Amino acid sequence: MNERKTECVKGRYPYEIRKLWKRAGKKIPEGMLLCHKCDDGWCINFDHVFLGTHKDNTQDMLSKGRHWVPRGEASPHCKMSDKDVEYVKKHYVFRGKNGNNGVALAKHFGVTQQQITRIARGER
Ligand SMILES: [Zn+2]
Repeated sequence: MNERKTECVKGRYPYEIRKLWKRAGKKIPEGMLLCHKCDDGWCINFDHVFLGTHKDNTQDMLSKGRHWVPRGEASPHCKMSDKDVEYVKKHYVFRGKNGNNGVALAKHFGVTQQQITRIARGER
């Protein structure tokens, strides 16, 4: 690939690009993730994302020589930056009207609900 390096564009919240992506008329097929080539979940530069599966995302991570494995578990997920973790800790509701919001957050970040719960409990 010969891509011109472009700057990251910061969104207002993590993975805002997913919303912008859809608004631009693009689709995120079922089971696919919008992954950041630049590894910045806040980035909303369309040139910096690609559609991939969880597996692609993992391989992308591995090919870059980095991967994050949650403590005590050997299953890699879509990357969550420290900022994402902060966001989860801040917005996670343990006991809201409809129980906790782990499912929504998990969907938002493209990770498992268990991972969200773990992060919210500070067990990452
Ligand atoms: Zn970027």
